[in-house]
Amino acid sequence: MAAEKNNIPYKIYLSEDEMPKAWYNVRADMKNKPAPLLNPGTGEAMGFEDLRPVFCDELVRQELDNDTPFIPIPQEIRDFYKMYRPSPLVRAYCLEEKLQTPAKIYYKFEGNNTSGSHKLNSAIAQAYYAKQQGLKGVTTETGAGQWGTALSMACAYLGLDCKVYMVKVSYEQKPFRREVMRTYGASVTPSPSMDTAIGRKILEEHPGTTGSLGCAISEAVEVATSTPGYRYVLGSVLNQVLLHQSVIGLETKAALDKYGIEPDIIIGCAGGGSNLGGLISPFMGEKLRGEKDYRIIAVEPASCPSFTRGKFAYDFCDTGKVCPLAKMYTLGSGFIPSPNHAGGLRYHGMSSILSQLYHDGYMEATSVEQTRVFEAAEMFARVEGILPAPESSHAIRVAIDEALKCKEAGEEKTIVFGLTGTGYFDMVAYEKFHNGEMSDYIPTDEELGKSFASLPQVPGQA
Ligand SMILES: *Cc1c(COP(=O)(O)O)cnc(C)c1O
Repeated sequence: MAAEKNNIPYKIYLSEDEMPKAWYNVRADMKNKPAPLLNPGTGEAMGFEDLRPVFCDELVRQELDNDTPFIPIPQEIRDFYKMYRPSPLVRAYCLEEKLQTPAKIYYKFEGNNTSGSHKLNSAIAQAYYAKQQGLKGVTTETGAGQWGTALSMACAYLGLDCKVYMVKVSYEQKPFRREVMRTYGASVTPSPSMDTAIGRKILEEHPGTTGSLGCAISEAVEVATSTPGYRYVLGSVLNQVLLHQSVIGLETKAALDKYGIEPDIIIGCAGGGSNLGGLISPFMGEKLRGEKDYRIIAVEPASCPSFTRGKFAYDFCDTGKVCPLAKMYTLGSGFIPSPNHAGGLRYHGMSSILSQLYHDGYMEATSVEQTRVFEAAEMFARVEGILPAPESSHAIRVAIDEALKCKEAGEEKTIVFGLTGTGYFDMVAYEKFHNGEMSDYIPTDEELGKSFASLPQVPGQA
């Protein structure tokens, strides 16, 4: 490609003017729309009125909107984005050199803000709509702490109260994350807690449990729906979150277009699917409209393999079974993954949008074991300088693997991957890796089978 012969800067920045003015809603271009959320009691699709008690009105509209391709980003949110966006698209020259690959590798770096990840893109949007509605505050869960941190920052900026239920094991192992949230004014409660009916029930059934995202979601939803002036917000999985995260993909595409670069392979790690969904959205749109083709690869931990070993079925989004049912690739809402260090990838389910796209053959998925992930993380840190989050390092691993395949085959492919965040709060994990104490536990078919057995029976579903 001619333009590629030109020198590509180490970092491609857009100007503020070139930042997206609207989010892109990939559902508008999907022939098979993601399946609707269902009421767990009746099995009926949930509409605006059903979801209003849980989520802010405008976010419910976005959640249910399968048709509008572009949704304007309110000016206040754009102003906030300007504090850390546009984020750079970096040519990984040093990594290419290290690998001696003919592949061209680019990464979109979303860790350039204090919360340290892409999650701030949706946190500010959700907090903004809560504020607009005149609410007092929001509740949420956090696993590794990135989402809670992002939401605390957004709430501090807008003057909203923020109540975070933090998975107990992270609360204890990541005291610094907890303190960052408290610095931004959030209250942080270890989950399961005795504050909620669902927390008490879970503790009774599983005394000594260190919690899971699914438990923490149940608690946060209970508090939101029982406290006047509060709503619940979620950092991934939902359609609205993928919509907000499309800012990542739109910027990536604009930066690539600026230099006439066409990616062959796009890679992202997948926990609930928000960064990957956001990164790929505009590219997927072209693919869905038949204009272009790309290989799109989701990377998940071998310890929590929703896409690669899960079932495409309606399931509960939370352990307490208080949330709507979502159709997705799932390991079962009772699945508690082994202590993997990529906390942000430990969710049992996956975005309904990505699940549908994967089911329809528009993207691939692969799983990787964590020691191989940390090997990639360390190599990346040494050559590119950025200390990556363990979650992000799943994408690094597969980008490296694909670049090495290019070397073998002598192919000059262009690879783009999402570098979702920094790993400064994950040094215990790095320490385990350096001391050779990291394990690669992979769930057995028997364990998954047990968890699948608890999938809900939904009328009309196989
Ligand atoms: C939360 C998180 C993820 C995974 O979440 P998705 O919704 O799948 O994007 C990935 N990387 C980082 C740094 C995170 O904080």
